[in-house]
Amino acid sequence: MSGNWTIKSILIFIILAIMILTSVQFYQHRHFQLPIVTGPGVTKVINLSDYCESLKGTMADTYVFFLEGKEPGGKGLMMGNTHSNEPAGILTTLIFIENAVVEKGTLIIIPQFNNSGSRNTKFGDGYPLFFEIPTDWGNKKFRYGDRTAAPLDQWPDPDVYVHYPDRQLLSYLDVRNSNRTWPGRPDGPLMEKLTYATIELMKKEKVDIAIDIHGAETMFPVTNCIVAPEKSMRIATMTSLTVMAMEGFENHVEPSPQGFRGLSHREIGDYSDTMPFLLEAPLPFLDQPTGPKTIDLLLNGKDPFLLSLAKQKKLFVPYDESGWPMEKRVGQHCSVVLEIMNQFSMQHSEREIIVSNVPRYAEVVEKGVGHYLHDPKKAKKEDIYYN
Ligand SMILES: [Zn+2]
Repeated sequence: MSGNWTIKSILIFIILAIMILTSVQFYQHRHFQLPIVTGPGVTKVINLSDYCESLKGTMADTYVFFLEGKEPGGKGLMMGNTHSNEPAGILTTLIFIENAVVEKGTLIIIPQFNNSGSRNTKFGDGYPLFFEIPTDWGNKKFRYGDRTAAPLDQWPDPDVYVHYPDRQLLSYLDVRNSNRTWPGRPDGPLMEKLTYATIELMKKEKVDIAIDIHGAETMFPVTNCIVAPEKSMRIATMTSLTVMAMEGFENHVEPSPQGFRGLSHREIGDYSDTMPFLLEAPLPFLDQPTGPKTIDLLLNGKDPFLLSLAKQKKLFVPYDESGWPMEKRVGQHCSVVLEIMNQFSMQHSEREIIVSNVPRYAEVVEKGVGHYLHDPKKAKKEDIYYN
């Protein structure tokens, strides 16, 4: 009898120890504050909830950085971390926030679009909670989030998500996926409030183009591409052809399907005057048949199983021993964003958006992403925003 109790006590102790250890890790992940150092181009920083009262005080509220040029012109919006497990998005937006100078027009940047999702993780899939980017002054630490908002912030999930306003039936998980809840409503679930606030921003600020930055599996055909609806198609096509010809990386255009609702590249175009673009770069970490989901796989994209599948022509992107390093993905995004603004400006001379001091693909590949991120210790306190 007493032997039984000894075993039970040891088991209870082990379970409690695991519970405490993991709770501390999840708490630290959820409350980790990422310093964002505003660069020479940032003229004001506001909260997204300024466009939607019901977003105030929630975990979905997030910073909006304005980079206003000396001369008036057009307006471009960039969004990173719509899916917080696709980190090339936030890294690209940080390169713009920390370095870009806007000569003409205005750039509006939301680096942490799904703020709640960045504080979530994929339970049971062994995702890392953090990753680090080497910089010229040491490593910069980031939360590694999930595709959907944290259940702590939006709960319960329905059996089926009925999209608003089209009433299309989507997976229950999509109620927390901020790329299925566009155009949103002020009194809907939290992610609908988030997308509603952003549509309001686009309408009030008269945003011309909106660029939503993602990453996708190498076994998924919609990768290395720009997804665009009819109204954005001309600019997307010219952008894709230009970057391929001038910068030598693969890129193509995917038409935004009319019958698949809730996506940014569909609803922003249908519910506002803004032209949407959704960018995808390869993200081997998200593919199913890979080895362990390590930080190395996340940052470098090297995996022996994908290499073997590439040899059998099962991937939709070029893939060799060099994998898909972060600097290639972020470099592609920087070039595609700059080229979309360039093509838009060429076609709308009265609404030009001219941005300088942002590296293109070759420079990011050569110098690394971290080269463009600034040391918060050397920045003035008022120039740092914690997210
Ligand atoms: Zn995505």
